[in-house]
Amino acid sequence: MQPPSRQPLALLTRLFGGGDALAGHREKILYRIAIASAVLLTPFGIFNLFIDRLPLGLAILATVGVLAVDAQAIRRGRKPPVPFALLLVPTAAAVAILLLLQPAYGVLWTYPVLLFCYFVLTRGLAVMVSLGLLIGTVLLVYVNVDAATAIRVFASLLLTIVIVNIILGVINDLHDRLVAQTITDPLTGAYNRRHMETCLDEVIERQRRSRASAALLVIDIDQFKPVNDRLGHAAGDIVLRTVVALVADRVRRLDRVFRIGGDEFLLLLPDTDLAAAQTVAEDLRSRIAAAAMPSAASDAAPVTVSIGLAVLQPGQQMDAWMHAADAALYRAKQQGRNRVVSAAVEAAAQRTS
Ligand code: GH3
Ligand code: MG
Repeated sequence: MQPPSRQPLALLTRLFGGGDALAGHREKILYRIAIASAVLLTPFGIFNLFIDRLPLGLAILATVGVLAVDAQAIRRGRKPPVPFALLLVPTAAAVAILLLLQPAYGVLWTYPVLLFCYFVLTRGLAVMVSLGLLIGTVLLVYVNVDAATAIRVFASLLLTIVIVNIILGVINDLHDRLVAQTITDPLTGAYNRRHMETCLDEVIERQRRSRASAALLVIDIDQFKPVNDRLGHAAGDIVLRTVVALVADRVRRLDRVFRIGGDEFLLLLPDTDLAAAQTVAEDLRSRIAAAAMPSAASDAAPVTVSIGLAVLQPGQQMDAWMHAADAALYRAKQQGRNRVVSAAVEAAAQRTS
């Protein structure tokens, strides 16, 4: 659960398009904005000092200064010392002073500041800050200019906020799809081997910390090569997809299916002990054996799977865990296929024989 103080931000982030695609790019964006600001704003800062608008000149130069401090740290590969949200303090001060002195010019600068918020702050914070900027600007324009101008400023700023949010929503969506593609097998929709390593690591780490039990099922289709040879590769693909769909249909929300080889899959069952994993494995085996495989495959002999099962042992590493499940699968194949063999049970049987 998130700390309570962050919940409104998390809620806003979810409301305005989910993920945070810019998270890994913020420093690069800030660095470039800092250079552009130094070039474009420094002359205005110096000019205002010369014409005796000391607060405005100092606020502009402070904006350039804090950006430069962070940019310098980023260039040297260090953490930026000024939090990004604090960068807005001199910026907001400069805009507010200008809105009081010359409202028409002040309004012009609120648009880049608004964009700055969205590309440098997290989404939830940017929404809050941009709405604050909108209200503050409209009030200052209303007080210092007139209601008609304030209404126009309100509409155009709000439209800018809406457009930025739409664009960021699309970027986040594309980012999420890209991430999904990098962890998914395109044929079956199961997760791929790369993602498997991440998930197994997490489960092993969780067991180390809280002794949570977990089980691995390595599922391999029996005599799949003849299925391909008899019915063709396309029908074989349908069998692969159907097996994954049957597994995904049976398991819980936190369980994960990975394709780890041509006709080999791994099912990770967090918080599951040996007895529960055996029940799941046996149920999957019988469901797959009983399932009508679509297309030409249904004309052939039923498709069956062999399953090797291993429960994570205390202190066990990923390789050893997978090896235990693989060895159990090997035994299942040796014993005639279409069956479940559990590593622990197998080890005990071998000890007594
Ligand atoms: P066993 O019971 O011992 O597992 O026998 P098997 O024939 O299933 O042997 P194996 O697991 O080695 O065969 C895997 C086959 O999977 C070989 C290959 O033709 C097929 N295969 C691998 N990737 C794909 C794929 O993406 N699509 C299809 N249709 N077949 C694939
Ligand atoms: Mg096979």
